[in-house]
Amino acid sequence: MRRKLVAGNWKMNGSLRALEELVAIAAAAEAASAVDVAVAVPFTLIAPAAALVPTLSIGAEDVHEAEAGAHTGCVSAAMVREAGARFTLSGHSERRADQHETSHDAWAKAAAAHAQGLQVILCCGETEAERNAGRAERVVQAQIEKSVPDNATPDWFTLAYEPRWAIGTGRTPTLDEIASMHAIARAKLRTMIGDAADGVRILYGGSVTGANAADILACESVDGALVGGASLTADKFVPIIEAAAGVGG
Ligand code: PEP
Repeated sequence: MRRKLVAGNWKMNGSLRALEELVAIAAAAEAASAVDVAVAVPFTLIAPAAALVPTLSIGAEDVHEAEAGAHTGCVSAAMVREAGARFTLSGHSERRADQHETSHDAWAKAAAAHAQGLQVILCCGETEAERNAGRAERVVQAQIEKSVPDNATPDWFTLAYEPRWAIGTGRTPTLDEIASMHAIARAKLRTMIGDAADGVRILYGGSVTGANAADILACESVDGALVGGASLTADKFVPIIEAAAGVGG
């Protein structure tokens, strides 16, 4: 039985004042004891967030693949770990698009994060053009093939299926499309890491809100949600946590 995970991604949003939202989110997370809750925040907010809400899993949105060195402006897995992060995202579609990161980069970052004891939420997902061209399955399979470390195990590794065209757009795939892609993703994982694939959580991400969370999270193949916009405030994020507790708790 895989526990549901509801993970927030604040992207380049937030401030010290905005951390107050995490207090109510942490309280809701404690009440929803059968569900795991995590929030990835900008690098500058990791340490104050971890200090403010020690019961909540705070993470980074990215790490550099190297341990240290001449990489101006970058932050290593060891650094975010020291700041209080327990996990990191890797391969988010905004990094793939804006920073031209490849699946190989996502793999290297995931491996570096694991080496530092961080958990990893690795993102994959097709563009709208790829879906319209009938290539969504092959794109996601190829991303998984190139980005999932071959030592991935459920205790540190989570996959997030996030169709790029659904991120921040208010559009979502149908429940059948989500279930179908999750099945394809798990089958692909199985070819790579064997039986461990059955324990790996596969999240859905892309315009999840309090209004659609219960339906999406009720899909048997959906082990949780990666949430961007609706994770920024407690009034929007807590209903998603409660929906996960309702279907998985
Ligand atoms: C995301 O940033 O991973 C995401 C899913 O964003 P949103 O929920 O805003 O679509």
